[in-house]
Amino acid sequence: MDKNADETRMKCAEVFRVANLSEFCTCKDLKCPYHPTNHDKGCSLCIEKNLRQGEVPSCFFNKVGGTEGKTSFTFKDFAKAVLSE
Ligand code: SF4
Repeated sequence: MDKNADETRMKCAEVFRVANLSEFCTCKDLKCPYHPTNHDKGCSLCIEKNLRQGEVPSCFFNKVGGTEGKTSFTFKDFAKAVLSE
């Protein structure tokens, strides 16, 4: 295989990986396997999990009062948080 082609492919993969990192993520749960620091798929895994469970990602809660003390992150909980702003 062409060495230059391999190097270019590796550089593209690195750029793609960095571009997919959600550096704006305000989620503080770094132990969560879906947190963008724990994989190279950006927000995708977090959003997929939240949609599957009928929940809203913590970055949205962080815009309306934060997640401190919250144990439930449903759409309804988010609506309540927005309305209590
Ligand atoms: S969707 Fe999830 S991973 Fe993306 S910024 Fe929000 S909390 Fe972070």
